Amino acid sequence: MQEIIQRFYPYAVPSNEFVRNTYRIINFNYGINPHQIMLAHSICSDDVNSIEYPEEGRQMLGPFNLGGLDGYPFTGVTGMSAFAHHVPEEGAALVFYAPHVGIGRHGCPGKIQRLGQHDDSTCCGALLKALDALKAGTISKEATDPLDYQQQTLESIIWKAKERIESAEDSVIEATDVILEESGKMIDQMIAKTEFMGKYLFVVGAVVINGDWTMGSFLELRRFDYLDPRTKKIIKSFNF
Ligand SMILES: [Zn+2]
Repeated sequence: MQEIIQRFYPYAVPSNEFVRNTYRIINFNYGINPHQIMLAHSICSDDVNSIEYPEEGRQMLGPFNLGGLDGYPFTGVTGMSAFAHHVPEEGAALVFYAPHVGIGRHGCPGKIQRLGQHDDSTCCGALLKALDALKAGTISKEATDPLDYQQQTLESIIWKAKERIESAEDSVIEATDVILEESGKMIDQMIAKTEFMGKYLFVVGAVVINGDWTMGSFLELRRFDYLDPRTKKIIKSFNF
């Protein structure tokens, strides 16, 4: 099954392996244990992310939820600041952000089979809805409706990347990358405006790839930075 995922995400690994790799790097380089790490995650509200949440990720403190639809960090500066004040004094803050995309047994980006369902459904549903609106010419160019603020925000991001997405080989994969990049920019701005407790600050950006309910989920690392929590300068970057 992993081969189907790696057709689109060649560096994807099972999500529990991803968490173990992250721990190993933090522990090997800085001697920090999972219970000294306060995790903030910015992942989609979709229940599939809860169902497939790696058990290894629960050894850390938290998670503090920064995300909303497709993992965009909708809590903004206030959310980041609240999280930053919960970090153990001798410990680390780990900020993880990742949009998600379903790729099931048929290898079609944006579709998975969920538990107890016969037909496939969209994943990320919010992103697919935005792409449908882009095609239909009904996309929201700005967020004005308090009843659907998050979806309209996603749509306005997709709208700005219209040409890039329409000229891409696969619009779902490309749009997921757009959300990842824009989430990263937002996370960086939020961090710049935040004072952190603790001695260490790590920022990890990735794409979550949800399989069918029988397949579990995978993660492809896109960014792993160790920052000075005071100056917010990147001290070291890692890869695995
Ligand atoms: Zn989603």
